[in-house]
Amino acid sequence: MGVSVAEKYLPANAGRLEERSDFMPKCDVCGNEYDKAFQITQGGKTLTFDSFECAIHEMAPTCAHCDCKIIGHGIEVGGALYCCAHCAQHEGGTKDRA
Ligand SMILES: [Zn+2]
Ligand SMILES: [Zn+2]
Repeated sequence: MGVSVAEKYLPANAGRLEERSDFMPKCDVCGNEYDKAFQITQGGKTLTFDSFECAIHEMAPTCAHCDCKIIGHGIEVGGALYCCAHCAQHEGGTKDRA
């Protein structure tokens, strides 16, 4: 009756939300600010990403044969990384028999 709905939805801590927005993490790849960004540490370097797409773009190794991003375990042959057994065999096979 006397209490309006608006008062309920305007709590005293409304100002705190603005403070928190200053803390918004920023993607190191695309520069997008996103409150659910995450960090990945690789080789002592920590980077912040807003999406796995950006993380893969920056951190995933590249297949030595087909140049695609390796987002699975990959296969290492003679110091080179491959996305799949097919690529590893193709490349390793030609080198071994050359
Ligand atoms: Zn991004
Ligand atoms: Zn490949």
